[in-house]
Amino acid sequence: MLKNDPLEQWDRENFLHPSTHLADFARGNVAQRIVTGGEGSHIVDRNGNRFLDGFAGLYCVNVGYGRQEIAEAIAAQARELSYYHAYVGHGTEASVTLAKMIMDRAPDHMSKVYFGLGGSDANETNVKLVWYMNNILGRPEKKKIISRKRGYHGSGLMTGSLTGLPMWHKHFDLPLPQVLHTEAPYYYQRPREAMTEREFTAYLVSELEQMIEREGAETIAAFWAEPVLGTGGIIMPPEGYWPAIQEVLEKHDILLVADEVVTGFGRLGTMFGSEHYGMKPDLMTIAKGLTSAYAPLSGSIVSEKVWKVLEEAADLTGALGHGWTYSAHPIGAAAGVANLRLIDELDLVGNAGRVGAYLKTRMTEALGDYPNVGEVRGEGMLCAVELTADRSTRAAPDPADKVTAKVVGHMMQNGVIARAMPHAEVVGFAPPFCLTEAEADELVEKTAAAVRAVFGG
Ligand code: PLP
Repeated sequence: MLKNDPLEQWDRENFLHPSTHLADFARGNVAQRIVTGGEGSHIVDRNGNRFLDGFAGLYCVNVGYGRQEIAEAIAAQARELSYYHAYVGHGTEASVTLAKMIMDRAPDHMSKVYFGLGGSDANETNVKLVWYMNNILGRPEKKKIISRKRGYHGSGLMTGSLTGLPMWHKHFDLPLPQVLHTEAPYYYQRPREAMTEREFTAYLVSELEQMIEREGAETIAAFWAEPVLGTGGIIMPPEGYWPAIQEVLEKHDILLVADEVVTGFGRLGTMFGSEHYGMKPDLMTIAKGLTSAYAPLSGSIVSEKVWKVLEEAADLTGALGHGWTYSAHPIGAAAGVANLRLIDELDLVGNAGRVGAYLKTRMTEALGDYPNVGEVRGEGMLCAVELTADRSTRAAPDPADKVTAKVVGHMMQNGVIARAMPHAEVVGFAPPFCLTEAEADELVEKTAAAVRAVFGG
């Protein structure tokens, strides 16, 4: 670790950070944190501060920090073969092995995996496959994609369009015209107080059906969704949502794309979110948990139904005109193999389910009745504390008060990281799967203390 250099100054002068208020950062008004180490569920910064990371980086360091097995696998791969491409039938032992491991874990009706680098580009690949498929099937007008308000699918041109959050569109000339956004399954913000979850689901289904009718089913190719909304506010679907939505999609011959970038490889206590909610996607997007972020790697998993069309297309049109230099990069693949082995060996999917349930129970006990908490919700190793100005009306706090940022800031000062979800007044948790009950207790205690410090009482 460097000590005698002006790293903080270099950071402000040279580094254009993603998702950051650039001017404030350059002026020194946004705190900077240079992270230097990590072990288990903790990270350490350059000033020697240690934090319990309740968000696993960006819900990605699922096996926890400092896993030597993965580091060794990466080093061994780099020494043996640092790179070879995957074009025209090439592969490496690591990439072929990882493809087999992924398909062994994916739902039975899935067939093949294409490798990319991050969640955004994997979603981009899936959009192209959907369009390609419909061109091959002779229905070139069936191209529109329905995603959801509050959905997050990345920040590329097409994937930023799929994302249903204004901040990702504003001043970027997005969304592109092929994308439509239907209502978010956000029961907490239901349109009428008296609605049951089932009634809310019926409302969402009717909104979707009206959109399909307005646009014409013959123009709509796919429905894009995370099994649980992540960046939009950590929002679980209301009762009966997925079966009812899938019925509509099947009726209109619209593909289902499950964006499992957050939920894939165990976050809900099941290998995939699709399994958790009984979804039968035609395509799946995977990233983060595939390598636990030890190296960049993502994937697009195609079902047998989609694969059959691609296979037939090849005999008509020749080689697939799609690929990146770094598709199936051997270092990412080696990290993926070691990561999935570790998840199995330590039963980390089971632990995500068990300790996640414990975290939600404890958080509910600590804050469920607090006057400024509208709801505590969770599924597997995802948990959310929704803040409110008035519990009886669930009114949102005044944004000018920045209460969520204050709560999270207070927690940070006490050595715990949660995420002030950027598009809701929600304190979000997505800890590593190796979280212990004692660490879950610490998250809860420090959250409760921060909420009390900010709201009083
Ligand atoms: N899809 C989902 C559900 C995500 O949460 C994210 C990132 O948080 C992405 C896609 C985009 O992934 P990336 O940031 O690796 O491009």
